[in-house]
Amino acid sequence: MPDDDPASPAPRHALIVGAGIGGLATALFLVRAGWRVTIAEREATLHEAGAGLQLSPNATRLLARLGMMADFTDLAVRPQEMVVRRHDGTVLSRPVLGKAAEQRFGAPFLVIHRGDLQNVLRQRAEKTSGIAFRLGHRIIDLRETDDQVTGIFETASGVTVRIAADLLVGADGLWSRVRPLSGLPQPSQPQGKTAWRGLVPREAAPIFAREAKVNLWLGPNAHLVHYPVSGGEAVNVVAIIDEPWLEEGWNAPGDPDVLTRLFARWDEDARALIAASPGWNRWALLDRAPESRWSRGRVTLLGDAAHAMLPFLAQGASQAIEDGASLAAHLGTAGHPAPIAGALARYDRVRIARTARIQSGARSQGRIYHLSGPLALARDTTLRLLPRDAALNRYAWIYAHDAESLTG
Ligand SMILES: Cc1cc2nc3c(=O)[nH]c(=O)nc-3n(C[C@H](O)[C@H](O)[C@H](O)COP(=O)(O)OP(=O)(O)OC[C@H]3O[C@@H](n4cnc5c(N)ncnc54)[C@H](O)[C@@H]3O)c2cc1C
Repeated sequence: MPDDDPASPAPRHALIVGAGIGGLATALFLVRAGWRVTIAEREATLHEAGAGLQLSPNATRLLARLGMMADFTDLAVRPQEMVVRRHDGTVLSRPVLGKAAEQRFGAPFLVIHRGDLQNVLRQRAEKTSGIAFRLGHRIIDLRETDDQVTGIFETASGVTVRIAADLLVGADGLWSRVRPLSGLPQPSQPQGKTAWRGLVPREAAPIFAREAKVNLWLGPNAHLVHYPVSGGEAVNVVAIIDEPWLEEGWNAPGDPDVLTRLFARWDEDARALIAASPGWNRWALLDRAPESRWSRGRVTLLGDAAHAMLPFLAQGASQAIEDGASLAAHLGTAGHPAPIAGALARYDRVRIARTARIQSGARSQGRIYHLSGPLALARDTTLRLLPRDAALNRYAWIYAHDAESLTG
């Protein structure tokens, strides 16, 4: 009897490729819905990689339903406001976050180190019965029949391993291998921008950068974002610059002299923070044009593998978490399982519509951030006139969204 027959008593089995933010969260949502999950990850150990991420209420609401908010208490920071400055240090606006956002959306805004978020999710997954890890497994191929899908992996020792499941989820990030294996093209588009990240230990950071705030500095052809992470023990600094450089990966070393030169005419506070970082890593910014489907047969995608997006609405991690919650909701519960093909078609429809809107919003935000000349002046004048809750109003469609609602 096929596992997606509603009468089958055996838990259905999902094979998730990628133990990043989306893959781990999805495993937890699927187990809660009665699935058994295997997570296959190419890295042999999940070491702390990356820097800061923002989690908005649309994602924290879902993590709260998994009973996870206490896991973040010592690690995540709850920013009280965002401070938007011009590159010369002039404050343009101070949108509220903190309590105002939490009261309005019923869940908090958090900023967190990517490694901490991944650790919290991994530890929760390790303690959850029904989730098995296969680390050091790089997917190289897949095969599908009417009844099952099989992922074919190369392990670190060179052995080929096959894992069969009812469903295969490609949560393998921006440079996804599952995507081409499932017959989708790879139209990720470099945007001529790179992100440089530094992590400044608290004691080395200028005082203004230690406060529980998200800071955004806008300049011609560049912007700077910083906020505290790791319970306030470090400050995550990301400089986005126009740079037509492209290489796969998240950790290419960056030459600090490049930033020193580019930010030489910025306010001294911004320069002091940049100078305080002990090192820089950079990655190329890519996104994808929205597609008409992510799923084929028993294979689907989520997170960056599905909908790479620019980081200017800070939704990369939050949308991957939403995807996982939505996928599990569409697949039904153990008592009421939905047939896989129909569930994936509905998941595609709902999630593609939502993430396409965010992809396009992030693109236009990037253009606005990097304006120069009279257009930048017009932007700054508008920002100065905005009430403090304008950003919460403008982005309520993102933050109020409930990804477990089946209507999208
Ligand atoms: C090392 C690293 C550092 C990052 N640093 C930052 C950062 O500083 N700031 C930021 O905004 N975003 C960062 N990101 C991206 C951010 O995590 C994602 O944009 C967002 O969280 C969506 O997550 P995701 O689950 O779709 O993908 P990811 O979190 O990227 O996870 C993808 C996972 O798939 C695994 N994988 C890839 N290929 C294969 C394969 N062939 N077989 C098996 N497993 C595979 C990867 O090792 C990774 O664990 C980073 C991602 C990675 C992998």
